[in-house]
Amino acid sequence: MASIFSKIIAGEIPCHRVYEDDKHLAFLDINPLAMGHVLCVPKMEVDYMYDLTEDALADLWKFTKPVAKAIDKSMDCLRVGSAVIGLEVPHVHIHLIPLQSVEDINFSRPKLNPSKEDLADIAQRIRDHI
Ligand code: AMP
Repeated sequence: MASIFSKIIAGEIPCHRVYEDDKHLAFLDINPLAMGHVLCVPKMEVDYMYDLTEDALADLWKFTKPVAKAIDKSMDCLRVGSAVIGLEVPHVHIHLIPLQSVEDINFSRPKLNPSKEDLADIAQRIRDHI
């Protein structure tokens, strides 16, 4: 069965897109740890990051760079943190999280549940800086 991220990539499930190329998609995490939390995903469905080919792994990290820079410019943060977890969704993704403190990247903390309007506004702010 296709992962929820493959369904987002196929347009079957909505998301708040921030950036895209032919092989990758970046969109807002629906339950962010901090506002501006973005997921960068390869369009090809692979469960585990370290099963990607060397080229696909390098391409994914290259794709994250302009997205992270745009988060830096559009959100009030000290820097953007990067994390790979993958215990919930079996489709490779890199979390990019604007950080004010290390607590903002603590995955055992309760997540936020922002409105669609707030997510749409944040996605636009990030898109405006790419
Ligand atoms: P993990 O697999 O543990 O790295 O976490 C998966 C992340 O995907 C979580 O932070 C979820 O909030 C996020 N997530 C799950 N479903 C969606 C969705 N439909 N749209 C955006 N983010 C999602």
